[in-house]
Amino acid sequence: MRRKLAAGNWKMNGTQANLVEIGKLATAHGESAVDILICPPATLLHAATSYAPLKFGAQDCHMLPSGAHTGDISAAQIKDAGGSAVIVGHSERREAHEEHSEIVRAKARAAQAEGLMAIVCMGESAAQREAQNTLDIIGGQLAGSIPDNATGENLVVAYEPIWAIGTGLVPTLAQIGEVHDFIRARLERRFGAGVGRSVRILYGGSVKPDNAAEIFTVPNVDGALVGGASLTADAFSPIIKALE
Ligand code: PEP
Repeated sequence: MRRKLAAGNWKMNGTQANLVEIGKLATAHGESAVDILICPPATLLHAATSYAPLKFGAQDCHMLPSGAHTGDISAAQIKDAGGSAVIVGHSERREAHEEHSEIVRAKARAAQAEGLMAIVCMGESAAQREAQNTLDIIGGQLAGSIPDNATGENLVVAYEPIWAIGTGLVPTLAQIGEVHDFIRARLERRFGAGVGRSVRILYGGSVKPDNAAEIFTVPNVDGALVGGASLTADAFSPIIKALE
């Protein structure tokens, strides 16, 4: 049985003052039956970890453990700051930092080597969906971005159609289901039924309090990766409740 996961990606938003939102979530969902993970900016990670039992992670990591990489942070540093997870391969990094799947895979492997859970993101552009290439794109990103040593503990896959991120556009439930079923089948084929069925698959892209419940009815949707609506407890709490 896969434990549901509500993950928030704060992106480049938030200062110390915003930690109050995490405090509200910890109070409201301290005994939650689902996993709640917040990935704030790296500047807030250590301070955020005082709000256990919520879990915290980073939004990216370098593929190497240390060295001359100005501005980057390593998986070991994320762990040292109290993080237990890291998002890799978000479409904003794939685009703005030219992170192709081979790089994403190396970052995921680095995270797993430190005992972190890698949340590997993938998704098609509007043009790729229009051209009916969605499953080809996802198949390629899955094969290229996911390391060979995946387990239900060290890997989460997030399906995030690029055209749905921050736009208010959401795929139909059938479209979400088609991709999640495809990802599940590919994971089972590559890693065997045991591991393949234990890896959680999140949907991400304009998840809001008013659409979360219906998205969570789709088979193989094990939770959500939420951007904008994870920034306040008022918006994120109903999404978590829809999963609980
Ligand atoms: C995201 O960037 O991971 C995301 C899903 O953003 P939003 O929820 O704002 O669409």
